[in-house]
Amino acid sequence: MATRKIIKIDEEKCNGCGLCIPNCPEGALQIIDGKVRLISDLFCDGLGACIGHCPEGAIAIEEREAEAYDEKRLWRTLLSRVRM
Ligand code: SF4
Repeated sequence: MATRKIIKIDEEKCNGCGLCIPNCPEGALQIIDGKVRLISDLFCDGLGACIGHCPEGAIAIEEREAEAYDEKRLWRTLLSRVRM
């Protein structure tokens, strides 16, 4: 595992509105128990397309140890959702 850029969600600021979710092209965000969660480090490319869509300023980019963004695995997951 290496250090890379990845989103960080401030649970205190997140109100669960869900506005960030459609603005994550990778489908890496879900509302769980009223807060948005990054479902897997593998699905976050670290570019932060979601950040500007959060009215609460709850999403930022941080640098931390994380598994590498895995585009192949992302597409397999997205296609399996479509086929369901
Ligand atoms: S847009 Fe911001 S406040 Fe709304 S769910 Fe996403 S992180 Fe939480």
